[in-house]
Amino acid sequence: MEVACLDLEGVLVPEIWIEFANKTGIEALKATTRDIPDYDELMQQRLRLLAEHGLIIQDIQEVIATLKPFEGAREFLDWLRERFQVIILSDTFYEFSQPLMRQLGFPTLFCHRLVTDESGRVVDYKLRQADPKRQSIRALQTIYYRTIAAGDSYNDITMLAEADAGILFHAPQNVIDEFPQFPAVHTYEELKRAFIEASERDLSL
Ligand SMILES: [Mg+2]
Repeated sequence: MEVACLDLEGVLVPEIWIEFANKTGIEALKATTRDIPDYDELMQQRLRLLAEHGLIIQDIQEVIATLKPFEGAREFLDWLRERFQVIILSDTFYEFSQPLMRQLGFPTLFCHRLVTDESGRVVDYKLRQADPKRQSIRALQTIYYRTIAAGDSYNDITMLAEADAGILFHAPQNVIDEFPQFPAVHTYEELKRAFIEASERDLSL
């Protein structure tokens, strides 16, 4: 049996913090781990900015509800779910991603949590565990599932390496060049073919 593991941001939906920053005009929210390598420092800055702008979780979700998955993403995901069990492995937060997940038909999602107080203010965040994408693949292996994983960036590499087959999708050229061991595809049609090929490789063993 096989499980398809998909990254979310950059694969099915745009980068949520960046799009949220665009919609709200809060430029400083565009900072990523490229600007602030320490993830906790980056998240504390994001939470501070949300508080400074008086944004509670409901406001945030309203803004995010105006975002759309990539064109063809829902159709691709439905196609994949007919053929594989699908789990989305993401470094986003449930509360953040919810409006986009609704548009994707609420597929199974493993990600992190934001902590809100009774007034809806985002006061903290909780990472599910360290290296969660890789750990999820390892957990599936312990119950004898074969895994095929696709992602677009550095935070997916340990997942792609741990999986039985890893595919780069929509990855920037520097990532493709750095990790030539993974096939790199750019459209959902190519990604479908890559999943089928990875799956057939298994059947022929
Ligand atoms: Mg991504």
